[in-house]
Amino acid sequence: MRVFDVHIHVQPWEMVAPDALAMVDDPSHAGAKDIVSSPENVLRFLDEHEIERACCINYVSPDVMGFTREVNDWIASFTRDHRDRLLPVGSVNPLHELKVHQEIRRVLDLGIRMIKIHPPHQLFAPNAYRHELWQLAEIYRECETRGVPVMFHTGTSVFPKARNIFADPMPIDDVAIDFPKLKIILAHAGRPLYGETAFFLMRRHANVYIDLSGIPPKSLPRYFPRLADVADKALWGTDWPSPGVVSPKKNVADFRALNLGEEAEKKILWENAARIFES
Ligand SMILES: [Zn+2]
Repeated sequence: MRVFDVHIHVQPWEMVAPDALAMVDDPSHAGAKDIVSSPENVLRFLDEHEIERACCINYVSPDVMGFTREVNDWIASFTRDHRDRLLPVGSVNPLHELKVHQEIRRVLDLGIRMIKIHPPHQLFAPNAYRHELWQLAEIYRECETRGVPVMFHTGTSVFPKARNIFADPMPIDDVAIDFPKLKIILAHAGRPLYGETAFFLMRRHANVYIDLSGIPPKSLPRYFPRLADVADKALWGTDWPSPGVVSPKKNVADFRALNLGEEAEKKILWENAARIFES
C-alpha cells in the first residue's frame, strides 16, 4: 500500500524559541533532530517507515515558535534535489510582512507546494481578511490562482504562547465560500474539541479536506464513526515528530487494522493526496 504523509514536521530546529523547545525537546524526540539534519536522513527514515512521499511542514511564527520567513528558503533548499518525495511546505505571516503579495509570490516561486496557516501560533483567525487583516486574502487568492493548497492547523495547541481563541475551524467556512477553488486542508480535523465542526466543513464544501494527523489511529472511530463514507475527503498524516507519534509505520498498521476496506484505505493513504498535489 502506497503511503503519502501530508503532515510531517521537517523544520530548522535551531530556530525554535527556548520555551517552545522545552515542549518538544523530550526523549521521544531524541532521534528526530538527527533525522531532520539532512535530506538523506529524512529519506532513509521515510524508507524505513514505507512512506513514499511526505509534505514537510513549516510556517512563520516569530511570536510563538520562533520561526521567521527564512523557513521558506530553508525548506526549499532542503528539498531541492528530492522534490519527487519531499514536498516543501511554507508560509507567509501577514502580521509580519509589509508586502504580503510580493512575499507570497516569492515563496511560491521558490517551489513551495503548500501554504500552512497556523491560527493559534500565528495569532489571527482564518477569516481575518473580512475584518482588519485584508492582506490575508492576497495569500488565499494567489494560492487559489496557482492551485496551491492551503493547510490550516485546526484545534487547540498547548505550546506556552499559543492562543486557542483561534483554534476553532468554523471561520474557515468563510474562506471556503470566498475562495471556492482554493484547496483547503483542515490539519488534525479539529482535534480534540472541534471534530464535528471539521467534519461538517469538509462535507459542506467540495474544496475542503481533513487530514488525520495527530489523532491516534485507534481513536479515529471515536472521532469519526463515518470515516469510510468520506474516504474521498480524508488525507493521511502523522504529525511526526510530535509527542505521541512514535512510529509512522505503526500508525499506518493501526489505521489499516480499523478495517475500513481496501478501497477507502487506498484513497486515504495515497490517492486523495496524490490527486491534490498532482504529482
Ligand atoms: Zn503539525
